[in-house]
Amino acid sequence: MKQRALTLFVSAAAAVLAGCASAPAEHAEHAHWGYSGAGAPENWAKLSGDNFACAGKNQSPINLTGFIQAQLEPLKLSYRAGGNEIVNNGHTIQVNFAPGSTLMLDNISFELKQFHFHAPSENHVQGKSYPLEAHLVHASKDGQLAVVGLMYEEGAENAALKQFWGAMPAKGGQKAPLATVVNAAGMLPAKLDYYRFNGSLTTPPCSEGVRWLVLKAPLTASKAQISAFEHVMHHPNNRPLQPVNARPVLQ
Ligand SMILES: [Zn+2]
Repeated sequence: MKQRALTLFVSAAAAVLAGCASAPAEHAEHAHWGYSGAGAPENWAKLSGDNFACAGKNQSPINLTGFIQAQLEPLKLSYRAGGNEIVNNGHTIQVNFAPGSTLMLDNISFELKQFHFHAPSENHVQGKSYPLEAHLVHASKDGQLAVVGLMYEEGAENAALKQFWGAMPAKGGQKAPLATVVNAAGMLPAKLDYYRFNGSLTTPPCSEGVRWLVLKAPLTASKAQISAFEHVMHHPNNRPLQPVNARPVLQ
């Protein structure tokens, strides 16, 4: 039993690193999940035995509210240029990273594997939804996950997004190398204050035990940038809010 749980956890981490259900032929068990119809989020747990965690008690996204004051350590990010490939996996647009960018948290080194986007935002902050959210996905050597969330309001054009936004592949299953290698440091706001909570992947297999850090300072993206993403996705790609249950949200 313990062995099986470990195997599932490792395969979940592997799925995230590979961009999850990028190729239905390779991930047949995930082939039918989506955001509407029979594969809609309320059915994810039933689609495959591997998705049992989607019905768990510590799921993401959530509405961040009822904050608990805590001594959160300053974010220790050491990001280098490494984003070298952009993928449309049919569920999101993802930029994959070469090794070398890290987040130190709880004395654990987490390596940045990829970032991707959701429109509208998945997490809400005190009831507020944003038109766009980025997830920077990090993994430790033993497969633990930490996600940094960035919120975007509609406003001025975002220079960091502009570097690769025009390279978004139009169709699911397509990928392209990036002409200019992206440094995720350029994506971040000046102030790195954050909310912290325990959650999950927001896509199947919805694995729990994910350290979530959502930055407080929103960024901006232009209406045209947000529209470009929505156009490529053809549909909203946000999982609905999940019950917070017993979890504190620290700040
Ligand atoms: Zn995400």
